[in-house]
Amino acid sequence: VAATGKPYYTFEGKFAGYVGSCTDITLRKESEEMKNEFIGMASHELKTPITSIKAYVQLLISMYKNDTDDEFLQKSLTTVNKQINKLTRLITDLLDISKIESGRLSLNKEVFVLNELLRETIDEVQHTTTQHDIVFTEESELKVNADRDRLAQVITNFLTNAVKYSPGADRIDVHLGRVDNEVIVTVRDYGIGINEDEQYKVFNRFYRVEGRNEQTFSGFGIGLYVASEIIRRHEGRIWVSSEKKSGSAFCFALQAAN
Ligand code: ADP
Repeated sequence: VAATGKPYYTFEGKFAGYVGSCTDITLRKESEEMKNEFIGMASHELKTPITSIKAYVQLLISMYKNDTDDEFLQKSLTTVNKQINKLTRLITDLLDISKIESGRLSLNKEVFVLNELLRETIDEVQHTTTQHDIVFTEESELKVNADRDRLAQVITNFLTNAVKYSPGADRIDVHLGRVDNEVIVTVRDYGIGINEDEQYKVFNRFYRVEGRNEQTFSGFGIGLYVASEIIRRHEGRIWVSSEKKSGSAFCFALQAAN
């Protein structure tokens, strides 16, 4: 049952009581659950064939890696591989959504040095771009008690977005610092930026900034939603500050560990 209430006042403006309403939302909840279950099942079913296709493509790539004479073959294999990686990312994102919505997103927490994870993740994303130089600055060695893989996912999302949404820039800055009891990670790009009235919406499920994405930037508006849920589950904070045309700074803060 969903309940809402409002105070009501007499003509003289005196408080007179509350008016409340209750709605039976059983059906709504059931259909939400069914939709969620469907997303979970469909993405799970898609995962198996994609994994097998990926394995064969990897095999072909390693078999023909020395065959530099056949340019068409090399080009085709690289393209297929790239597209499969994209599909795999989408399927894992959908699986994550279904886990979040059904309360099945579990965390494997451990205490670790965040500096190392940042360096590893930056390295991986750096390999995907020749145009951007990702510059990392760190204050000191900082530890957190968190799920390593899930945090890597958040950082990767920030970084790949920074690359994607700054097509004219040549630099991305990543900073790791500490303020009081919090460890703060900032990923700053010098790209297209986000209007102030849209900034709080980018963490919503399936939200994409209107008007510009479809033509130039591919995506599904899932990454930041999943990232914000991961940080929320760690009892941390996530936010963005941005200015249209001069770039965005995506940040998250977690309690520091000893
Ligand atoms: P996707 O990039 O797949 O659409 P995300 O959930 O990662 O999904 O991002 C949601 C939206 O937020 C994007 O569609 C984009 O409009 C906006 N956005 C995210 N990161 C940036 C950024 N660094 N600069 C500008 N806009 C961004």
